[in-house]
Amino acid sequence: MPLPAESEPTAELEASPSNLGGDNASANRAGASPHLDSALPWKSVFETALDAMLIVDDAGYYLAANPAACALLELPQEVLLGRRVADFLPTDTEFEPVWQNFLATGQMRGEQQLRLDNGTVKTVEFSATAHVQPNHHLSILRDISDRKQFETERDALSRQLEQWVISSSEKLEITQAELQLQQQRIDSILNSLECVVWSVDPKTLETIYVNAAATALYGHPPEAFLADADLWFNCIHPDDYPLLLADIEALSYQDKIDQEYRIFRADGSLRWVRGQARLVRDGAGAPLRIDGTTLDVSDRKRAEFALKDHQATQQALLEAIPDLMMRIDENGDILNLISGGEITLYGPIPGDRCQSIYTSFPKALADLRLQWVQQALATGTRQRYEHTIEINSELRHEESRVVPISQNEVLVIVRDITERKRAEVTQADLNQKLKLVNAELNRLATVDGLTEIANRRSFDQALDLEWQRARRQQKYLSLILCDIDYFKPYNDNYGHLAGDDCLRQVAQILSTVVKRPGDLAARYGGEEFVLLLPDTTLNGGIEIIEKIQVAIAQCPLPHDYSQVSSNLTLSFGLVCHCPTIKEHSPRELIHRADLALYEAKAQGRNCYVVGDSLA
Ligand code: GH3
Ligand code: MG
Ligand code: MG
Repeated sequence: MPLPAESEPTAELEASPSNLGGDNASANRAGASPHLDSALPWKSVFETALDAMLIVDDAGYYLAANPAACALLELPQEVLLGRRVADFLPTDTEFEPVWQNFLATGQMRGEQQLRLDNGTVKTVEFSATAHVQPNHHLSILRDISDRKQFETERDALSRQLEQWVISSSEKLEITQAELQLQQQRIDSILNSLECVVWSVDPKTLETIYVNAAATALYGHPPEAFLADADLWFNCIHPDDYPLLLADIEALSYQDKIDQEYRIFRADGSLRWVRGQARLVRDGAGAPLRIDGTTLDVSDRKRAEFALKDHQATQQALLEAIPDLMMRIDENGDILNLISGGEITLYGPIPGDRCQSIYTSFPKALADLRLQWVQQALATGTRQRYEHTIEINSELRHEESRVVPISQNEVLVIVRDITERKRAEVTQADLNQKLKLVNAELNRLATVDGLTEIANRRSFDQALDLEWQRARRQQKYLSLILCDIDYFKPYNDNYGHLAGDDCLRQVAQILSTVVKRPGDLAARYGGEEFVLLLPDTTLNGGIEIIEKIQVAIAQCPLPHDYSQVSSNLTLSFGLVCHCPTIKEHSPRELIHRADLALYEAKAQGRNCYVVGDSLA
């Protein structure tokens, strides 16, 4: 039953640019093996596995080989890659039909003879999985030549021994010494094998023979198996126990069983083993022995599991990705639609056949794509661009990334970012409005609503600030509190609205007079105002008061109900101070100004009083 020994696939390949090549496999073939992605779990298995692992393309050419595969086929990797599976099969093997069958069924296991370049023939046990990636198939091989040779020799010796036993009574040709010699030879062969070779009684299941390899695989020496018939069963994983019992049962009507089980070693570690057994019958057909071999296949199992995990993850990822992903060659032909994405920018793109981007996208966009594909190939670096397109009179946006994966191929990932773009526009608009609202809020918080000069709150802040500055720089700080004289009768006689208007005019005059940077005119409350004058001496403060008096006089506001003038007048309380290090608060300054203002009122109004300096 000739089988196409290897076939292989391997998982991870998509991670490596050169591995994605579906139909450009020939480009890979001659060159280096695919770069296996070190982040993937099975990579280390691939590199370090004792079993030979090979990756083969659709046409049966080797794309990658691990060190064990090179050792098995006795060829350096650079020679091995580019050779075909069929090169190593016996000449009478009909490779093509078996290979096609493998590609169709996806799995194949068995034993196969391989013919090496140097003429050596090896027997391997193989397990192959097709299509771990498009155009990638994984084959795991193990050299079982020694075991095969042993089995051949054992069968020959067994037949010879049977002959000897049959004829010994008559001929007595076999001496004790000869028998011992034969026995030693068998023991030597058996104990040099890597696999466990055993024989059990078909009725009692007691162990008749087990070779030294049991110690390495099970952690129990042969003597332990000979002494305890249950030991085989104690080692088996509880979940696989029923399988083993069923297999033993099956031996009565089935010549041979071949099964994989999990076992626990003496140290508690888990191993996967492949057990093969056959029932040996005597001349009359009665069961004589069960002979078998047990082989450690943990490496292969690990690789298979890692592969399965990887495939499942990869599939899930592709399904979850809403982006359009495709491989495009240098001419703009879509080689492979990796994920159709949920992209709604364009109509559906058929995934099963190679077509030009000019068929799939509007010309302007196809031109752009081709330009970026060529740019990515020329520079060998990832390119990213955004594109806006009008579809059904609606502006849509896409973001594309172009990643080179070989000399003449790129991976293109297209994402519909229309919603994001719209959100960005809305966000910018909102931000602008927010800015305006904040500015207005800020203004409202610092400006007096009636007079539109600074309010009490911003005066308090400015005072703290200037106080600190004056203290640091040891400069004089002057502060003037002023209050409209006889404003109550003004209100009472001219009306509240006229009063408001008057307040606005006074505020306007004050802020016109006080105009040095750092100076501040604020409404302190009611018809009372405050002027903050940093870096201003007492004389400077008096000068300001006089300017205000002049300005008020020049812009007379008739006040027939004032007792000091026919026009509106103000009274002032002035303080000037250079804060010392010890003083922490400017409140006392206000208090002194207030007292001075009170004094000015007491002195008859329409005048100023200089307050006591702080102690
Ligand atoms: P004095 O010369 O002693 O300062 O006398 P006065 O009448 O100016 O002082 P008083 O405190 O008795 O009256 C202040 C008046 O200012 C009372 C109040 O109606 C008026 N006033 C306070 N705030 C406003 C305002 O926002 N608008 C108007 N129209 N009047 C206000
Ligand atoms: Mg007042
Ligand atoms: Mg007043």
